[in-house]
Amino acid sequence: MALEQEIKAQLAQYLELLESDIVFNVSSNDSENSKKLVAFVQEIVEMSPRLTMQNKQLKRTPSFAVDTKDQVSGIEFAGIPLGHEFTSLVLAILQVSGRAPKIDAKLVKQIKEIKQELNFETFVSLSCHNCPDVVQALNIMSVLNPQISHTMIEGSMFKDEAEAKGIMAVPAVLLNGEEFVNGRTNIEDLLEKIVGPQDNSDLENKEPFDVLVVGGGPAGASAAIYAARKGIRTGIVTDNFGGQPLETQTIENIIGTKSTEGTQFMALVEDHVNEYNVDIIKNAKASAIKKADLVELTLENGTTLTSKTVVLATGARWRNLGIPGEQEFKNKGVAYCPHCDGPMFEGKDVAVVGGGNSGIEAAIDLAGLANHVTVLEFMPELKADQVLQERLYSLKNVTVLKNVQTKEISGDGKVETITYLDRKTNEETTLSLQGVFILIGLQPNTEWLNDSLECTKIGEIIVDKYGATNMPGVYAAGDCTDSAYKQIIISMGSGATAALGAFDYIIRNY
Ligand SMILES: Cc1cc2nc3c(=O)[nH]c(=O)nc-3n(C[C@H](O)[C@H](O)[C@H](O)COP(=O)(O)OP(=O)(O)OC[C@H]3O[C@@H](n4cnc5c(N)ncnc54)[C@H](O)[C@@H]3O)c2cc1C
Repeated sequence: MALEQEIKAQLAQYLELLESDIVFNVSSNDSENSKKLVAFVQEIVEMSPRLTMQNKQLKRTPSFAVDTKDQVSGIEFAGIPLGHEFTSLVLAILQVSGRAPKIDAKLVKQIKEIKQELNFETFVSLSCHNCPDVVQALNIMSVLNPQISHTMIEGSMFKDEAEAKGIMAVPAVLLNGEEFVNGRTNIEDLLEKIVGPQDNSDLENKEPFDVLVVGGGPAGASAAIYAARKGIRTGIVTDNFGGQPLETQTIENIIGTKSTEGTQFMALVEDHVNEYNVDIIKNAKASAIKKADLVELTLENGTTLTSKTVVLATGARWRNLGIPGEQEFKNKGVAYCPHCDGPMFEGKDVAVVGGGNSGIEAAIDLAGLANHVTVLEFMPELKADQVLQERLYSLKNVTVLKNVQTKEISGDGKVETITYLDRKTNEETTLSLQGVFILIGLQPNTEWLNDSLECTKIGEIIVDKYGATNMPGVYAAGDCTDSAYKQIIISMGSGATAALGAFDYIIRNY
């Protein structure tokens, strides 16, 4: 039995929602993997009289297509979609049966209007929490447009194919056989890459907001809820909804919630925001801010939105090393997400650059899969918590190099070596390896402010105890500020503070 009882019980509830009969077209042979896949599909089929399976030769074996009796949906799963991909399968079954995907009507129209034939293939690992968003977005496109097809390919079952195609990071999307997108993305970004920028001309006509929040992470969501609860006109402009928690596997420090996953948690947060009258503008990036009569926020597409107050909650992103080879070998051996890309380095030699908590957690995680892990730390000591260091030093296949400066990553088409300098002896060493995970902390997403606000020398927005910046009517919260600690609960608290500060400002000035 591939499915746990609890998951089966949930699946049974979803299968009640089927709108038409589903046929699983299964491509199998005598291999062990085929037997496992057939048993998996069989187990699902036995759960509802509306499900059947039959044999069909597909491009990959073992794989299966999710179709109806009369129509090929274009959705195929090569390998068994367990782990993080199980939800992708459940949604595919429901959507192929006729249940409408929960996306904006504007996006549905755009997808249906695509005329050219698009065959997508996405390599995933089942431990990758960024992969399902991509798989689900491309499955939705397949369901809505017969010209589009999508196959999810489980990397470890199709290891030879992944290696032959040079895939070293997931999700890796190919379009008509060519590299298309790597890493976490969403349906809006994928569509923009296919058909060009969305028509956002309707944004120009938006009435001024009372509170306009920039950023859809924990801080922005919290600010928006606090503002909307005051009954004032509230909006969120964001690149994506979710922020850094989407990169987070397990979260265990949200008080009152013992354990959750980042994607699951932010889906609940988004639902909570949607309970209120908040105008959420996604896939939009702020590029400039100015105080005139109102605060003017310009977006990258040239549109300007106005508001009495603005709360900046643009968070932070992984910091780059800035050394030769880092950009060139991104997704070709240089990686930032051990949960996602770790399985691609099974049995290989890897390095982790960074000896803080995230680096040492990554090294421990990778040591379970890789042949050998080398940790490179710039400072003379690791900065990670003692408990993590103890665990690290107990592992036999880990070497820790301290007081070293990473100088260069090189190779031929993919990572082959890393060169570091011993800061004490000034000696350079080159190690042969196949992967480099870079975990050297975060950098605030504030470059776009271009000195319009007072920031620290590393670009964090300076705020007072009300969350106010030095620009009247402009507040800031979360990881983009100079707050001492960067955590979800802290960001949410500062988002609430900034919204209340903004509300106070409105009362006093308007
Ligand atoms: C791997 C990892 C694990 C973590 N684990 C934990 C944990 O277990 N517990 C915990 O409490 N914290 C954890 N954190 C930290 C936590 O995720 C952050 O402190 C928190 O997400 C900060 O929230 P935020 O809203 O300030 O910023 P973010 O989460 O970074 O959100 C910023 C938002 O702003 C948007 N944005 C950025 N620039 C622009 C722009 N110019 N225009 C419009 N929108 C923009 C982004 O798209 C995003 O939606 C972890 C972080 C990482 C990376």
